[in-house]
Amino acid sequence: MFKKGAKLYSILTGSCPKCHQESMYSNKNPYHLTEVLHINEHCSHCNTKYRIEPSFFYGAMYVSYAVGIAFAVAAFVISHFFLEASIHFIFISIVGTLVVFAPIIMRLSRNIWINIFMHYDKNLSEK
Ligand SMILES: [Zn+2]
Repeated sequence: MFKKGAKLYSILTGSCPKCHQESMYSNKNPYHLTEVLHINEHCSHCNTKYRIEPSFFYGAMYVSYAVGIAFAVAAFVISHFFLEASIHFIFISIVGTLVVFAPIIMRLSRNIWINIFMHYDKNLSEK
């Protein structure tokens, strides 16, 4: 499930959605905050253009809402059911989670968004 060729691989690693051979981002570390959203123009392996059209990644906003909710629910479940924390602590933990994981949420949403429109191509990957 988590091998090259699976969508999940490209989504979780941020690799090229068509060949899965290299990262789409100029800096692989999402916590280099000035370069969080720097995406290369083309894949140097298969020459896929990442921005299919101008402002393509604006659509990732919709995905980031869902991904943010998933992180918030996870924070709620952990602090409510496992830590049995007060409502104030739960609120703070949800806000803290969303702030700390913001770069990861942004990248995950972009990876999911581009993987909706592009699919793995075995021939490109072997080129
Ligand atoms: Zn590629």
